[in-house]
Amino acid sequence: MAAFICVFFPAVLCLSAARPVSSDRGYSAAASGEEKSLEARYRSLVSTNQIMQYHRYLTAEPHPAGSPRNNDLAQWVAEQWRAQGLEDVVVHEYDVLNSSPREISLEMIRPKHFRASLREDAYKLDPDTKNPRVDGAYLGYSASGEVTAPVVYAHSGNPEDYDYLKSQGIDVRGKIVLVRYSNPYSYRGFKALTAQRMGAAAILIYSDPAEDGYKQGAVYPNGPWGPPSHIQRGAITYDFLEPGDPLTPGWASVPGAKRISRADAISLPKIMGVPMSWRDAKPLLANMDGPVAPDSWQGGLPLKYRLGGKRVQVHLKVEMDDSIKPYYVTEARIRGSEAPDEWVILGNHRDAWVFGAVDPSSGTAALLEMTRSLGALLKQGIRPRRTLVFCSWDGEEYALTGSTEWGEQYADELKQKAVAYLNVDEATSGKDFEADAVGSLAPLIVNVSRDIPGPSGQSLYEEWQGSRQRALHQSHPVEDSELPDTRIGSGSDHTVFLNYLGVPVVGLTFVGPYGVYHSMYDDYFWMNRFGDPGYKYHTLMAQLWGTLGLRLANARILPFDFEAYGGDVMRFIESLDDETHVSGHVDLASLKAHAEEFQAAGLALNQSVAVALSSGKLDDAGATRINQQLMQVERNWCNPGGIPGRPWFKHVLYGTRETYAHLELPGLTEAAEAGDWLPAAAQAKIIGDALGRNTALLHQIQQELDTTTGVPKP
Ligand SMILES: [Zn+2]
Repeated sequence: MAAFICVFFPAVLCLSAARPVSSDRGYSAAASGEEKSLEARYRSLVSTNQIMQYHRYLTAEPHPAGSPRNNDLAQWVAEQWRAQGLEDVVVHEYDVLNSSPREISLEMIRPKHFRASLREDAYKLDPDTKNPRVDGAYLGYSASGEVTAPVVYAHSGNPEDYDYLKSQGIDVRGKIVLVRYSNPYSYRGFKALTAQRMGAAAILIYSDPAEDGYKQGAVYPNGPWGPPSHIQRGAITYDFLEPGDPLTPGWASVPGAKRISRADAISLPKIMGVPMSWRDAKPLLANMDGPVAPDSWQGGLPLKYRLGGKRVQVHLKVEMDDSIKPYYVTEARIRGSEAPDEWVILGNHRDAWVFGAVDPSSGTAALLEMTRSLGALLKQGIRPRRTLVFCSWDGEEYALTGSTEWGEQYADELKQKAVAYLNVDEATSGKDFEADAVGSLAPLIVNVSRDIPGPSGQSLYEEWQGSRQRALHQSHPVEDSELPDTRIGSGSDHTVFLNYLGVPVVGLTFVGPYGVYHSMYDDYFWMNRFGDPGYKYHTLMAQLWGTLGLRLANARILPFDFEAYGGDVMRFIESLDDETHVSGHVDLASLKAHAEEFQAAGLALNQSVAVALSSGKLDDAGATRINQQLMQVERNWCNPGGIPGRPWFKHVLYGTRETYAHLELPGLTEAAEAGDWLPAAAQAKIIGDALGRNTALLHQIQQELDTTTGVPKP
């Protein structure tokens, strides 16, 4: 409504006027009404029963990347999409380095003999757990080898843990380190790289009951937490250095592509690693010698955790099959009616460590039901303005492989055409909504969440508010700008889009107590008992994901909010300074001024877009020109040379830490944290220049809009 008032005032006055109602950003008032009724119609087509059927099929068998079952599922997804009426269905093949277990054994040979089972127990209640095709314990891309060595307990396996061991006179070189999975999550590949850097011979990573077992609550099959034998599989690839097939860094591993040698592959671990249940780790911990570990290192087992180093000797053998295997990315589209060369991309990975009921099949089931419902609209003659591209990725669990290879293969076209990438990895392990997004798209998620009814009878927005308030232990509403997380790390398929291509990304998930991650027990039984009985949150995810896709695909002007983005950049700069005091060494004033100018340009552009949309004077050709330029803003954050030491990661605002944690202003932050002030100044200049370029671009877009609508220049 406020947007309407602005039509009669110069843009400059609008800065202080009430801001336009942002629920219809990118739409005129009339178009907004039509869009919302279309979205409601879409949501009414989403069938809970159908999602359950997809989910049962997807979780019926283990389907890790490279397995026959996962390959069959690639074709099955393609068949579903053809039957649903989707267009341009294609299955892409990438020939990549795979990693699967041939033989893994672990024996304690001193002070007593114990052979680790490295398997998970079957339960009568849950027939899937008896499936003979379930693998035992392994870590993707572990090195192969054999070693007999003493074991040292190294807590979470972070660098500071090794500092402590050193202070106690314990050297881990040539030894086997036993570390815990940690909560909050720290990527296991970081633990492996840290152990490798410390000179350890091998790393054992076990699930302590304090993190995801009985210390948290009732365990499977009576509750959502991990039972004694549950094993968290996973890859230990160093894909925070460079994701994708380790042998084709920076180009697509299409059949016949050139490959580098394994020795030259920086993302391949040189250390052996094996994951363990606490049941298998307990005899090792119980027999350790050496000093008692500090209180903060004590875990949930009823024993004194000691640092070890001498008494417990283990013989470990790891033999991995590291042959080249085909991975398959299934892709389909609904071609846009007006702007077929503007792509809204929606994707989820298909490969799972075992059955993958949460990770990723909850997302795959939501994907298939979203496409079925959009396909039903298409059959009724309803086609979105822009093209919707749907992708079922492969090998996400190994190195974000399928999405990275696809992104590298179509990089030039994607840089021209990609509007946004909407990722859903784990659709649901519970009821609490979480979203992350680049700063320009975060407000859109909040707006869309207001329009979507949740299972409780409240809107998704209200449910989101409730769960955020509970998480933050606060009684007043959370600021809308604080609902989505605009600090984005790695660890899923959005990475190639954001960090390599400069495509705006969104990630959506519902979370809850989930202690069976990457274990056999992440299965259909678990989902129906604990994760999402009745599949209400799967349904909600399919509805939300498709609604967001439609909102982006049908907007006349792309609904990016660069004012909000500028505010985020400013906060990134301020928190970096709080943490590193970089401004004592590097002049941040000019960087902050650039961020402020960008934010102001974003605000002014928001006003001009609202005015232009309500004026009715913007023709199709004009709108296309504007949208083409808007799409380039995110691209402009990419520096072709990448961030120092990691040229694949090109985005200057977003990077990832080695733990997968978010890392804003990556080049500047890493230099500041290292106290390298000259490189820090150079990085600040690169970011400032990118902000300057984008401010100029926003001004240019705004002027074009104002000229169209006849708003006098301020
Ligand atoms: Zn996943």
